[in-house]
Amino acid sequence: MNCREFTEFLHEYLLGNLPAGERAEFEKHLAECPWCVTYLDSYRKTIQLEQAAFAAPEDAPPPGDAPEELVQAIIRARARAS
Ligand SMILES: [Zn+2]
Repeated sequence: MNCREFTEFLHEYLLGNLPAGERAEFEKHLAECPWCVTYLDSYRKTIQLEQAAFAAPEDAPPPGDAPEELVQAIIRARARAS
């Protein structure tokens, strides 16, 4: 698996939808690629922010330590990937 494939599998992985064989490949790449570890971490934070925003639109807490620029960059990257 390369970094591009990794980003394609990322969403399914976080949803727990990845079949065992692909999840093993995914985690193998994660073990050897610091860039993708960082990417996964940022992506996961973005998902949490989105969920928090949907769960409590009126009085959501401030978005913590993920800067808005980063969130926007990830959303743009994801739009390009799809
Ligand atoms: Zn990678």
